Amino acid sequence: VWDNCLTFVKDNISDQAYKTWFQPINAVKLNDNALSIQVPSKFFYEWLEEHYVDLLKVALTKEIGKGAKLVYVIRMENAKGNRQPFTEKIPSTQRSNVNSQSIDFPSRQKNPELRNPFVIPGIRNLKIDSQLNSNYTFDNFLEGTSNRLARSASLAVANKPGGTSFNPLLIFGGVGLGKTHLAHAIGLQVKDKFPDKTVLYISADKFTQQHIDAVSKNNRNDFIHFYQIVDVLIVDDIQLISGKKGTQDVFFHIFNHLHQNGKQVILTSDKAPVDMQDIQQRLLSRFKWGLSAELAQPDFETRIKIIKNKLYNDGVEMADEILDYVASRITANIRELEGAIISLIAHSTFSKKEITIDLAEQIVKNYVKNNKKPISLDDIQNVVSDYFHIEIEELQSKSRKRNVVQARQIAMYFAKEITKTSLTSIGRHIGQRDHSTVLHSCKIVSNLQESDKQYRKFIQDLEIKFKQL
Ligand code: ADP
Ligand code: MG
Repeated sequence: VWDNCLTFVKDNISDQAYKTWFQPINAVKLNDNALSIQVPSKFFYEWLEEHYVDLLKVALTKEIGKGAKLVYVIRMENAKGNRQPFTEKIPSTQRSNVNSQSIDFPSRQKNPELRNPFVIPGIRNLKIDSQLNSNYTFDNFLEGTSNRLARSASLAVANKPGGTSFNPLLIFGGVGLGKTHLAHAIGLQVKDKFPDKTVLYISADKFTQQHIDAVSKNNRNDFIHFYQIVDVLIVDDIQLISGKKGTQDVFFHIFNHLHQNGKQVILTSDKAPVDMQDIQQRLLSRFKWGLSAELAQPDFETRIKIIKNKLYNDGVEMADEILDYVASRITANIRELEGAIISLIAHSTFSKKEITIDLAEQIVKNYVKNNKKPISLDDIQNVVSDYFHIEIEELQSKSRKRNVVQARQIAMYFAKEITKTSLTSIGRHIGQRDHSTVLHSCKIVSNLQESDKQYRKFIQDLEIKFKQL
């Protein structure tokens, strides 16, 4: 069976990918319709689940028929290459179900038996499968300056859902910075602490789809009712309802009901509420009722922690200089950081080579487009003075002209955000100021950004310019 699956897989992916990800797999047994395969590490399993689960599903269904299941057996291998056989079994359903099936909210008229796999008839009311990924716990979410506020607010909410002023809790930040992870962590912890509470995680995309289906089947009221009975509602990527009036109306309705009844709402978004577009004002204002907490880009120290944790979980060791190398090159996004580490371990596992700086360099290249020079203080002063049409000499002077002061403060702010330079040397470079002036400037810039639209636009324009350097 497995050989046939492999032939199918081989025809559908590149040679390189096949060699890397499929050749090392051994089939171990076939039980009814469950095929067990042995993979070299947990990373490997995660990679397969992330990238090839659909392909595998098709292959297995072809070979075994409907209801085919895949069970992963992880062969742990520590850094020295000693094998510890069969330490962990993970049924493939753990993740793939969440991705591949949609939750149907039960329709009371049509489906009194609630045969849907995600809705199990309960003793009291309904039991709803929360759609939570059990890997995304607080324990696995490492703390750093970039996520401290969001993490502690999330913990507070998880320990007292509906009972804090953080309602809704809105977690926002760029791609791959941990929004989905934190959202799941809250859900998991609530379920752990309050087993009677109904928790539901849903992406805004799926929510929208369900709503459209409901309307077309004349089930809109059931749809609303279903969401109104949960105690904790988590909607991931809420920005995706932008421009969708019907979905916004229905969400507004559900939100109000939950909020009025002391139920907890958790939202994630790729931007702050002030920057969201095409979302009704009444919703935006509700998003701001509770707390908006940002997940920023992790600093170097946090990146190191995250990598170390990942390695530790997989029983792999890596030299400090390689850790440093990877963490200093891949800076923007934790998903990429994880991806790079996974490939690094995978490559070394298959080629049976130790992880060297050379190997790290090759792999990191795939993640960071062009290994750019870091942005210097001079670059920052050039870009800022150019943007505000001020001479660099003026920027560095003692001038108190309003526009010059503003540009100088912004330059200091970016110097602190972007470069690794100390406040003292930033101050010395930009106009002979001391470090407390620099700190003060950074605070002013942060505050003004929040209160002043025009000002925020300056900062955003400049951010783009720095990205393009
Ligand atoms: P987002 O939803 O913001 O795009 P995710 O929550 O999907 O990002 O996170 C991307 C990956 O990074 C996930 O595998 C997640 O587990 C991991 N991750 C993010 N933040 C952390 C953290 N603080 N500690 C450990 N892993 C993290
Ligand atoms: Mg996400």
